[in-house]
Amino acid sequence: MKNIVLFGKPGAGKGTQSEKIIEKYQLTHLSTGDLFRLHLKEETSLGKLAKKYMDEGQLVPDEVVINMVQDKIQYTKHSNGFLFDGFPRTVAQAEALDKMLNANQMMISGMIALEVDDEELVKRLLLRGESSGRADDKDESIIRKRIEVYNEDTAPVADYYKKQGKYNEVYGIGEIEEIFAQLCRVIDQL
Ligand code: AMP
Repeated sequence: MKNIVLFGKPGAGKGTQSEKIIEKYQLTHLSTGDLFRLHLKEETSLGKLAKKYMDEGQLVPDEVVINMVQDKIQYTKHSNGFLFDGFPRTVAQAEALDKMLNANQMMISGMIALEVDDEELVKRLLLRGESSGRADDKDESIIRKRIEVYNEDTAPVADYYKKQGKYNEVYGIGEIEEIFAQLCRVIDQL
């Protein structure tokens, strides 16, 4: 079983690469952003709560995110492993994830950071906003806010995994297939 955290700023290519990774390694994809967007679409109370944070490019409070992930992990306990995408985004979330996995006799095998510089991300997200229908991709100030929140709140999560000796890095600019091949090289060694 492999439980992997795919890490990277908004627009780094986590969604695209996740699709390919889950297919090849038969992992359960757990994207907190996708889950929130589903709640938003179905207008659940969780969706309504998350919306105001998402619209502003802020993080949804830890407790809300952690409870949502907890439900998913329990529901799909017997998979080949999980690919966590967009989670954990704070050190508190990373600690909670370790506890949840331990309680189910599982652990994180490794974290892989997709590295892309900030100006490239802004360009990519504005382009994605033309077709994705995502409100948070349409406005450059919201995009910059998301990158800022990442640099402040999420970057320390990399150190959390570095201390555990689980940190890996892949350069995220180039051909999708070449980046995927590099990710696979890392995953195969986990
Ligand atoms: P994403 O699709 O991963 O870029 O997530 C879109 C938005 O959902 C983020 O800008 C946050 O508002 C919210 N979100 C997704 N995952 C998390 C998380 N792990 N912690 C807090 N907020 C999150």
